[in-house]
Amino acid sequence: MTRYDAIIVGAGQAGPPLAGRLTDAGMRVALIERKLVGGTCVNTGCMPTKTLVASAYAAHLARRRDLGIITGDVAIDMAAVAARAHQVTINARTNNENWLAGMKGLTLLRGHARMTGPTSVTVDGVELSAPRIFLNVGGRATVPDMPGVGEVPYLDNTDMVALDRVPRHLVVIGGSYIGLEFAQMHARFGAAVTVVERADRLVPREDSEISAAIQAILEDEGIAVRTGANCIGFRPHAEGVAVSVDCASGEPEVIGSHVLLAVGRRPNTDDLALDAAGVAVDQRGYITVDDRLATNVPGIWALGDCNGKGAFTHTSYNDGEIVAANLLDNDQRRVSDRITAYALYIDPPLGRAGLTEAQVRKTGRRALVGKRPMTKVARAVEKGETLGLMKIVVDADTREILGAAILGVGGDEAIHCILDVMYSRGPYTVIQRAVHIHPTVCELIPTMLGDLQPLTN
Ligand SMILES: Cc1cc2nc3c(=O)[nH]c(=O)nc-3n(C[C@H](O)[C@H](O)[C@H](O)COP(=O)(O)OP(=O)(O)OC[C@H]3O[C@@H](n4cnc5c(N)ncnc54)[C@H](O)[C@@H]3O)c2cc1C
Repeated sequence: MTRYDAIIVGAGQAGPPLAGRLTDAGMRVALIERKLVGGTCVNTGCMPTKTLVASAYAAHLARRRDLGIITGDVAIDMAAVAARAHQVTINARTNNENWLAGMKGLTLLRGHARMTGPTSVTVDGVELSAPRIFLNVGGRATVPDMPGVGEVPYLDNTDMVALDRVPRHLVVIGGSYIGLEFAQMHARFGAAVTVVERADRLVPREDSEISAAIQAILEDEGIAVRTGANCIGFRPHAEGVAVSVDCASGEPEVIGSHVLLAVGRRPNTDDLALDAAGVAVDQRGYITVDDRLATNVPGIWALGDCNGKGAFTHTSYNDGEIVAANLLDNDQRRVSDRITAYALYIDPPLGRAGLTEAQVRKTGRRALVGKRPMTKVARAVEKGETLGLMKIVVDADTREILGAAILGVGGDEAIHCILDVMYSRGPYTVIQRAVHIHPTVCELIPTMLGDLQPLTN
């Protein structure tokens, strides 16, 4: 049994930076990775998808005639598009690997880790022990229990980022963040695309006017959207896969050449032998943690997607910061200090921070709401990208910003203008009185705040 000061399972978004902090503090650390250093984000998530989104955006712009640029027919070299995404991924992974290789005090072990006790782990027959164990095992795509799913070929995010041919007709099951990014990019690459969503609107976590605007953006590009699909099922078909959607209206069946399952993610905790250490999980398999990410077993922490406290790269990375701050810096950082924030990378993107209007309503507090269509944002008009809207909700009594959404050009960046004031706990008037640069998307946030209306029933 080899002894370390700390064992980290998973080289995703929290593990490697935490390893850096622990080794800097003089600890001997074992980092165990069963597959690819960098985890989901680098290899099959954020990085390849945003690279593909960039190629899709270029194709979209090249097809536009209203900007006065004359080009010939736009063709997609999907093999080159995929190769670029692959190269971006390999570069990032290699950088991560080189960084780890230079970390003094770190041992990177390749293999599948399983717990054997509260302070011990086995990796393909090799036994390790440490008084501190950090679980950063991430998650994977859920395969839904839908009729016929086992009888047809289907794709997940890992398959999608490797596609070097454009599907003839891509049927995306799941009208949320991951599904919609793939839907729009492949429509722009030339595929026929149908999005099938069980709920009565796309991205049901968002406010209804945001969902409606997203649906309009996608339909405007020829994507078929089938919501209220309450009985999704699959059967093999000569042209690929027949997907029964059983919607209130429209064709009851859609024939796709390819099917993408994008109905959610599940944590990689089912093959970690957590029972051997007595680590508790919730009903969905997420490791139960407290506000400092400690599990029920002293000396074991869970970070990133596997603890259910976030589903993003930035939340996983922040988990590592929280654990390091508490262990090494005597700095009592907590998960509850974090404000929800994320983006949906369709074009135009959605940047989101804090609560939705629906969530604010549930709190019962007095609130004010401001909205502005992107048609009234000069920068958007100048770019010819006026789809979407921005929206903000503030507390009528404390004047703190409760939440905001910017669905529009640059929305993924502009939302930080609001997010940072939320972190400062300052009143919304701080932004309202700020002089922003013209012409930017952010410059209209003060204007929107100057026209707040009471949130009525
Ligand atoms: C298509 C897609 C697009 C996305 N886009 C974005 C985005 O734009 N922005 C964003 O913030 N988030 C995005 N995400 C989410 C983001 O990728 C994840 O939230 C993030 O990677 C989670 O990091 P993590 O460290 O928790 O886990 P992971 O990155 O999944 O890393 C976990 C690691 O643990 C390893 N592992 C698991 N079990 C074991 C074991 N038993 N032994 C050894 N190793 C093990 C895995 O191989 C993996 O390398 C996207 C996800 C997908 C699928």
